Amino acid sequence: MSETITDYTAPADLLKDKIILVTGAGDGIGRVAAKTYAAHGATVILLGRTVPKLEAVYDEIEAAGGAKPAILPVDLANVKWEELEYLAQGVDQEFGRLDGLLHNAGVLGQRTPIANYHYATWQQVMQINVNAAFGLTKAMLPLLEHSKAGSVIFTGSGVGLKGRAYWGAYSVSKFATEGLMQVLADEVDGVSNIRANSINPGATRTNMREAAYPAEDPQTVTTPEEIMPTYLYLMGDDSIGVNGKQFNAQG
Ligand code: NDP
Repeated sequence: MSETITDYTAPADLLKDKIILVTGAGDGIGRVAAKTYAAHGATVILLGRTVPKLEAVYDEIEAAGGAKPAILPVDLANVKWEELEYLAQGVDQEFGRLDGLLHNAGVLGQRTPIANYHYATWQQVMQINVNAAFGLTKAMLPLLEHSKAGSVIFTGSGVGLKGRAYWGAYSVSKFATEGLMQVLADEVDGVSNIRANSINPGATRTNMREAAYPAEDPQTVTTPEEIMPTYLYLMGDDSIGVNGKQFNAQG
């Protein structure tokens, strides 16, 4: 069962003093989520693979008067467990805890029948969209346990709820993402302050959407800013007690 909370209005200080890590923070939905979280009081840790994009988001947050962010340059396509452990140590030394983790980074891969799908591309999509999210979650769990109410948000997709021809590894990776969310949510249920949920953004105006639907007029597509109510709700304390749920950001 999907949930919707599109009419949520976040208090201006919803995320005051929270430490929140956003993956894929340099572009698209992640960029807007990082800026939105900062605008609501959070100190944001910007994780991504393209440093100039992360620096631009850093500058925008500072210019808007937000708390000084941190930048974590990581290519999730190649990241090793030791590097994730090292990253977690760095976050621990700097902040001592993590209050929120938004798994947003993702790649589309090929749009082609299974019969034609490149083996290497399949593995890369699964690595970035699923394996890296597992590794980062595992590395950050001890820090999330140090939070009064740690929120882990995974990013799903409509094709991760019902399979669709030619969407290949992307579709399968989003099913796996829902599975990872559900397993984690069940494990923490009743024994931890951590909660885990997923968001299907729905069609959103980003580079990924344009790559998937090149003939579509981007002006007709919902902007990342418009889907932020769900991202705020699940990250802030108003969603304490909500665990293991799948949300549609556009109803
Ligand atoms: P974009 O392609 O605009 O942004 C994806 C982000 O992920 C970028 O910041 C990108 O970094 C980062 N990223 C990709 N690969 C890596 C990597 N190897 N290591 C680190 N970071 C990486 O996509 P969206 O904003 O549209 O998508 C965000 C999430 O929402 C994804 O999980 C996507 O699957 C999901 N989604 C999007 C929908 C839409 O309509 N837009 C619909 C349904 C789901 P860089 O810019 O440096 O490449």
